[in-house]
Amino acid sequence: MSAAAPFEVLVPPPPDGSTRARLGRLTMPHGVVETPQFMPVGTNATIKALHPDEVEATGATIILANTYHLFLRPGHERVERLGGLHRFMGWDGPILTDSGGYQVVSLGDLREIDDDGVTFKSHLDGTTHRFTPERSIAIQEALGPDIAVAFDQPVFPSSTRRVVADATSRTHRWAERSLAAHTRTDQALFGVIQGGLDPELRTASARFIAGLAFDGLNIGGLAGDETPEQRNATIDLTVAELADDPRPRYLMGLGSPLDLLDAVDRGIDLFDSVLPARVARNAQLWVPGGRLNLRNERFRDDPRPVQDDCPCLLCSRFSRAYLAHLFRARELLAYRLATCHNLTFTLDFMARIRAALRTGTFPVQVAELRARAVRMSGGEGIGKPA
Ligand SMILES: [Zn+2]
Repeated sequence: MSAAAPFEVLVPPPPDGSTRARLGRLTMPHGVVETPQFMPVGTNATIKALHPDEVEATGATIILANTYHLFLRPGHERVERLGGLHRFMGWDGPILTDSGGYQVVSLGDLREIDDDGVTFKSHLDGTTHRFTPERSIAIQEALGPDIAVAFDQPVFPSSTRRVVADATSRTHRWAERSLAAHTRTDQALFGVIQGGLDPELRTASARFIAGLAFDGLNIGGLAGDETPEQRNATIDLTVAELADDPRPRYLMGLGSPLDLLDAVDRGIDLFDSVLPARVARNAQLWVPGGRLNLRNERFRDDPRPVQDDCPCLLCSRFSRAYLAHLFRARELLAYRLATCHNLTFTLDFMARIRAALRTGTFPVQVAELRARAVRMSGGEGIGKPA
């Protein structure tokens, strides 16, 4: 492990096995992040519709940016010339970049995978590009996030065993090449566990990736088309294989509060998803125990805030009726206020989880947290990649 992102478990799971949830702290060049933690996604080096001060006000302490998108536009070399991603986007806190693997592999007919890498056509202008593990790492070193991620080949959970097996062994070879290519000592590098829903392949992948000198362990290939039961079973066997490995565990792509709670309970420390912001822009506001669709007629005369006890930019000042009006008029402020609220709700939910872990009351508070959570149905947040 490099010294770039030391992780400490502050409160380990209790020995009675009532939960595998743990409280932790990840220290990075741009700041300290408490775990379990949710990372809002800034695809194009911006959390859509928000100023960085507003992102911070939602409670976010670390954000994610997408290597694939920034490589295509504005270009990693340009970002590097302009002082790196932190300066470029005006965010002083920790940043994690993904490897680009998910976006590239999700391009369908626009890409071709071989054992050395992936050749793909830009979704912006059709130009041809190539990512290899070495290239992905070089791009991420130029962008300069606190945490980079090894290049991998994700597959949909419902893929055939042959497809999953091939992608997993390729991910393992690419993990070794990513590690060998990584030179920045001020940047952590996380590796990605694949293996689909197949217990044997998943366990073998966890063992292989955990055997390499990564600073953190990502669990990939979930938060797709699997059921919550399939996901939970896969998390359980992965965490069991990792046992008391001291590194942070990051489940990529999960974002609905109930799913986050289930995964924390099973031992996951980090999450990211476009879901809270995406559904917000679609007028779906998360509140304790459910959600409000602000396009519904009944909100046009509702003088109450979206959520009574919420300190966000929306709830501290405006009514449901006003937000309903903004959405109907397609006013830009609607997207900004709704995004502030859903991110505040999600990050507050994670803070409640951490508070319960800190006081050792998580197992008895799970039911209360579950009642507060929201679960979106599978297809709502996923669709096309970010
Ligand atoms: Zn609010």
